Amino acid sequence: MSDYVGGYRREAPLDLASIFLGPKGENADVFERLLLEAFRDHVFWRRNFHPEDGFQVMEMEKHTPEYERSLSTLSTELMGLLGELKAGVPFFSPRYIGHMSSDLTMASLIGYFATMLYNPNNVAAEASPVTTRMELEVAEQLARMIGYDTARQWGHLTSGGTVANFEALWVARNVKYLPVAVRWAAEECGVAGLTVATPTGERMPLDGMDLWQLLNVGPGESMDLADAFRERLGDDERVVEALAKHSLAGLGYQEFGRRLSTQFGDALQDGAVLVPSTAHYSWEKICRALGIGGAQLIHVPVDRRFRMDPAALEETIHALADRRQPVIACVSVIGTTEESAVDRLDLIADVRDRVGRERGIAFHLHADAAWGGYAASITRSPDGRRRSYEDALADYAPEAWPEEGVYRGLCAMERTDTVTIDPHKLGFIPYPAGAVSFRDMRVRELVAVDAPYLFHRGASEWGYIGRFIFEGSKPGAAAAGVWMSHKVLPLDSSGYGRLIGETARGALLLHRRIGSGDWGPFTLIPLPLPDLNIVCFAIGHPALATLEETNDFAGRVYAAMSVSGDRTARQLDYFVTKTVLRAREYGHAADPILQSLGFSYDDYERAGGVSVIRCTVMDPFLGSRRGRMDFIGGFAKTLRSVLESVL
Ligand SMILES: *Cc1c(COP(=O)(O)O)cnc(C)c1O
Repeated sequence: MSDYVGGYRREAPLDLASIFLGPKGENADVFERLLLEAFRDHVFWRRNFHPEDGFQVMEMEKHTPEYERSLSTLSTELMGLLGELKAGVPFFSPRYIGHMSSDLTMASLIGYFATMLYNPNNVAAEASPVTTRMELEVAEQLARMIGYDTARQWGHLTSGGTVANFEALWVARNVKYLPVAVRWAAEECGVAGLTVATPTGERMPLDGMDLWQLLNVGPGESMDLADAFRERLGDDERVVEALAKHSLAGLGYQEFGRRLSTQFGDALQDGAVLVPSTAHYSWEKICRALGIGGAQLIHVPVDRRFRMDPAALEETIHALADRRQPVIACVSVIGTTEESAVDRLDLIADVRDRVGRERGIAFHLHADAAWGGYAASITRSPDGRRRSYEDALADYAPEAWPEEGVYRGLCAMERTDTVTIDPHKLGFIPYPAGAVSFRDMRVRELVAVDAPYLFHRGASEWGYIGRFIFEGSKPGAAAAGVWMSHKVLPLDSSGYGRLIGETARGALLLHRRIGSGDWGPFTLIPLPLPDLNIVCFAIGHPALATLEETNDFAGRVYAAMSVSGDRTARQLDYFVTKTVLRAREYGHAADPILQSLGFSYDDYERAGGVSVIRCTVMDPFLGSRRGRMDFIGGFAKTLRSVLESVL
């Protein structure tokens, strides 16, 4: 990596004021200049491509009524569209602390706009020679930030976190059942003597393993087994064919399950997927879509900081093993959608190591870091090295952020098999831009279609992303947007780390204000300190006698501070959102909030959950009072008057 970026030494501290267009368009001049530059440059490109071709549209033609007709429609309709767009939601404003949307980096917007004019399709490099390279480059940058070995990783962009999570579980499932497929394929091809490394550290003959053991081979060891089979057979095409004939992906759940019971005489329990109670609802969709079944999605309790409880996880795994139910994957959340809680992924990875060592249990470990993934940049110094916790802490003083457990959780992403990170969330990049990273690039062959099981390690394959991913056509412009943004804000403590640290600072100040403000007859009960940058709080009042009434009140406060059919953005001073901590998922994690509100667990179960107002802080200046407005103070004032008027 060069010491000089854009002509400046990297160490020159970066002013975050230069990153966004700004709530009042403060950086409009440079933005306009660069946009115009991009557009003009594109036109030059067109003119200079085979200039001998001449022109298709003649100047004279431009004066005919027919020509003018469509252009006049275009202009009029654009003016109409521009007018209508003003009814949109002002994500750019410090007054917007609702959903996970905010101002976007100028780098990503200009990169996106410039590239959109060329409309590259990143399904194959043939249609996107430039932006496919950029996509693979940003995937590598994300993998490096996570801590994966960049020579072995594979990753790419997706339309979002949902598809990234889908691909991770798709791969996890195919890897899980791979040893069974290799066993059958090896039998058919007459390959004997294959051995497998088990989680307890022994080697076993493949044909001596029972079904439970076959479904508890570690992800890396499963791929090693497939490699060994390929090497023994020495005929790649036959390997592909044989595996397709015996794999779950090829056969489908019904036939695969039928064969398991006839050939092993063992109707094993369904494969389970473990997620914390705080998991994003996409996991339910994904389990259904992959045919795993929503019923196999198991919610592991979270603690009072809304982090997956590692002891509860270990207990759940043992209980499943007692009834011989294999675990396909365990998902840990780095930055929950509701609270921005960061799981103690370090402790969760320890659980995985321990149940492997002690009981021979193996499963895929995934980090759903759609929200919090970019926060791992705080753990990297500009030279790419992992920083000490103390150094990170010193950066964000006087706030005591991040907590050490959060830091350990972020660092532990390197111990997973796959990670989801959304550039279109804390990357401050326009939609659509999600990303998925795989520790071991070999796994992509398991989802490849038309794909020889070749393990090409070489360069010739680089451009055919479409073979290995779920989606087809996708915008090269999104890749260019991410690429540009990572250039301006590198994935380390000097770039994204600073930006996200400032959002956390704002969230902590907001949290303090909610917890200590003068709310008159109302009690505002903030959830515990956020790990990253989302602040939630419940609202009580003596007149609200039941939890149902309390929830209803929170609903009305939310309605008064959000856009709806009969309330436009223009009528609002501040924007928030709302969520429900449902009893079914959160269990006793919400006890302290209920106690503060004066309700019992029975009340909680009867009401089904407790409603809280949710504020997502993405504005790096919320806490710093740069201009004339104190937005946290302004928010508190508006909130107080909303509370009174809604009651
Ligand atoms: C937002 C989010 C998702 C889904 O991402 P999309 O980009 O909306 O598809 C998944 N998991 C978590 C934790 C999220 O915050």
